[in-house]
Amino acid sequence: MTENMTEAVVIGSGFGGSVTAARLAEAGVNVTLLERGPWWDTVPTRSMGVEDRTPFPRHARLFTHSLRSLTLRWTPWGRTRLNRKGLFEVYISKGMEVVCSSGVGGGSHVYSALHRRPLSPDYWDGYFDDLSEQTMAPHYADFIDRVGSSKPDPENAPPHTAMQMYSNHPDFAPVVPQVDVRTGFLFPRDKDNPRLVTTEHGVARYETDYSTGDHGFLGAPSGSKSTMDIVYLAPALAQGLTIRALCEVIAIRRQADGARRFRVDYMDHDIRKTRSIQTDHVFVGAGTMNTLRLLLESRDKHGGLSGMPHLGHRFSGNGDIRGFWDLDMDDTDFTQGVPSKGAIHLRDDKWPRIGIGRNNMPSVSAYPLPGRIRERLKRGLVVSGMGADSADGVASIRNGKFHIEFDPSNSPIYAQIYDTMMEMARLSGRKIFAGRRPSTVHPMGGACLGPADAGGVVGPDGQVHDVPGLYVVDAAAFPAPTAAPPTMSIGAWAENVAARFIKAHQPPGQAE
Ligand SMILES: Cc1cc2nc3c(=O)[nH]c(=O)nc-3n(C[C@H](O)[C@H](O)[C@H](O)COP(=O)(O)OP(=O)(O)OC[C@H]3O[C@@H](n4cnc5c(N)ncnc54)[C@H](O)[C@@H]3O)c2cc1C
Repeated sequence: MTENMTEAVVIGSGFGGSVTAARLAEAGVNVTLLERGPWWDTVPTRSMGVEDRTPFPRHARLFTHSLRSLTLRWTPWGRTRLNRKGLFEVYISKGMEVVCSSGVGGGSHVYSALHRRPLSPDYWDGYFDDLSEQTMAPHYADFIDRVGSSKPDPENAPPHTAMQMYSNHPDFAPVVPQVDVRTGFLFPRDKDNPRLVTTEHGVARYETDYSTGDHGFLGAPSGSKSTMDIVYLAPALAQGLTIRALCEVIAIRRQADGARRFRVDYMDHDIRKTRSIQTDHVFVGAGTMNTLRLLLESRDKHGGLSGMPHLGHRFSGNGDIRGFWDLDMDDTDFTQGVPSKGAIHLRDDKWPRIGIGRNNMPSVSAYPLPGRIRERLKRGLVVSGMGADSADGVASIRNGKFHIEFDPSNSPIYAQIYDTMMEMARLSGRKIFAGRRPSTVHPMGGACLGPADAGGVVGPDGQVHDVPGLYVVDAAAFPAPTAAPPTMSIGAWAENVAARFIKAHQPPGQAE
């Protein structure tokens, strides 16, 4: 097989992409993973022997390396790239802001590592006979097992949890334990002495140090967070997975008969040249926004794909609204512990109650700000709500530009979450600075699971109905809002896609 040919190309190395690439490589498939961002400089990536590493933004680099790109709906040229090694990408669209991230491991570096099943207990039921909650259960289990997603023991619980602070509060109550939430952190055996450990695949990482506050939305250099590069990619590299960082896919083109089925064109940001790779199978896991963008641009701008009549429809922001709760509690440093402090709800709220997540500001000690402001930020919390919106957003290409249109007034959940936050502020006597406008870090839908005649774009194996060999392995394929943090479901979906692919492509004689 020559350099520019491979059996499968996976685009993006977040949850969907890493799970798919790793499982296929471990099953013996020749896979190339293309990721537009850099490898991050962490204890684990150093131990893996990655040479070209980029530090997470801290201190002055916060100004230069926080933002990779910005898409404003007013600029005629669309996306503005600020730094190819930047951490976040921001979309300001009609009716909604969306934040996603970049780099090997995708959003697993910036997330709070909360794992939950979708709010609806029959989320996966009713679309296809051979896909259901029951068939998805082993895939959730595989993801939880591989990530080591767990709950802290009571004796090493991190500080400031909702259970500790609000179990007996007159106005607020913790959402846990009624809701089953797990966390993708490596909890310390002894919380006063977090150890350096080596995984069974030879990757070095530290247990979580509750005293640093340096493992939140700006990445975890110590490796305490169970990111995709540690848990999925490192073992798969040993099985022959090829990972090309700083390689941004521009177009997927279906080839004429007789050739390899697809040509994938990408910009190699290292050498600043466009390159191509040919393959039979393309798995798109670029994160909902970029998966939709890539599929739509490949079809409507570059003419490389056709069909997919429902592509771009049923886009959801998962009900996300965010704010800052300026609690300013004396002697309280919320950056201690893990980023998520657990959600709370109003005791008097009507059913179904709105849970409001509480997260500390990340890596505050590294902000180039006056000490007084840093201390104040440490004493407050980022609050967020999520829930089922009407999932009626539309992603499209207009005048050559990628657009999202979303009308929040169709989705009562956004106002309900905002009102709940304002009631929390009133009851606590402490301001919450929040906008009414949806601001999501959990975009989903747009290339939805479902029968083609019912608005679906992909089938139960993740394959696009009218483009055989093209798969969607991230939350763009979700049939509805999860109304909960989605990563466990993205991991499970990708496990499902990979398992079905491996089964369908195993050599004759090995089939069950
Ligand atoms: C601050 C923050 C906190 C969060 N906390 C939680 C949480 O606690 N729990 C939870 O479940 N979710 C959380 N999320 C959401 C979670 O991070 C996302 O849902 C998840 O990362 C999406 O996974 P994905 O695989 O779809 O895409 P991503 O993780 O976004 O990965 C996509 C990857 O594809 C790459 N890519 C994009 N375009 C291209 C291209 N053209 N070519 C090559 N590569 C490309 C990107 O650089 C990226 O690395 C949080 C998000 C943020 C921003």
